[in-house]
Amino acid sequence: MKITDGHIHIGQWSDVFLNYNSTIEEAVTVMKESGVSSAIALPCDTFENEKLLKDILSVKDFVFHFAAWINPGDKTLDKFLGENSKHIKCLKFHPSFQRKNVLDESFQKYFDYAEELKIPVIIHCGRWKEIASFDFPIALAKQRPGLNIILAHLGGDQPSLCTSCATSVKESGADNLYLGTESVREFYFVNEVVKTVGAGKVIFGSDYNLGLPKMYIPIVESLKISQEEKELIFSGNVSRLLNIE
Ligand SMILES: [Zn+2]
Repeated sequence: MKITDGHIHIGQWSDVFLNYNSTIEEAVTVMKESGVSSAIALPCDTFENEKLLKDILSVKDFVFHFAAWINPGDKTLDKFLGENSKHIKCLKFHPSFQRKNVLDESFQKYFDYAEELKIPVIIHCGRWKEIASFDFPIALAKQRPGLNIILAHLGGDQPSLCTSCATSVKESGADNLYLGTESVREFYFVNEVVKTVGAGKVIFGSDYNLGLPKMYIPIVESLKISQEEKELIFSGNVSRLLNIE
């Protein structure tokens, strides 16, 4: 079965992850060993958009789709986005690192940019409810029906958050919301989430270089759904959103 990893990181983390650094060569090796045929690659929280894009463009034996990390405080960001729009397949927002929720004014021009380019955005969701709750991107999806939004970590990487996020997504009625599986290990609840929102709304991700695809592929394989639905989660949904093969 074709597998696209919808959420990997390459490069240098800050001291949040002890300055851990990984190279693009390591990513190619791990992805190939895992049976992954392409991946959406994000920088880490040191915002190395320029370096990662350069690295991706130099790789000839694996397909990476570049996602730019949006830190509105990054003075080089607007110029970078302006000059490289043809290579940018997705934008990544991390409310917790930026300490602002995604309804904050400083993020809005980047959502405009994604809508203009017709590319999706990945929004980190987590346990810091005041900043990184899934409620903010769900509200954003209602404000911007033309923007496809992937809620990372199934809305918060914790069974209570994942299942309540799935219910809120369903109740919102917004059809531009998707859920990424990266870093969620409680397989029983992943199955519950898929039952609630449907396989057409779920996107496989590993959160490599923090996780490994081989840690999370079995979770999707174990879901009580059809092969066709697993294909949607492993590659079909993300390919449709990014307009890729
Ligand atoms: Zn991540």
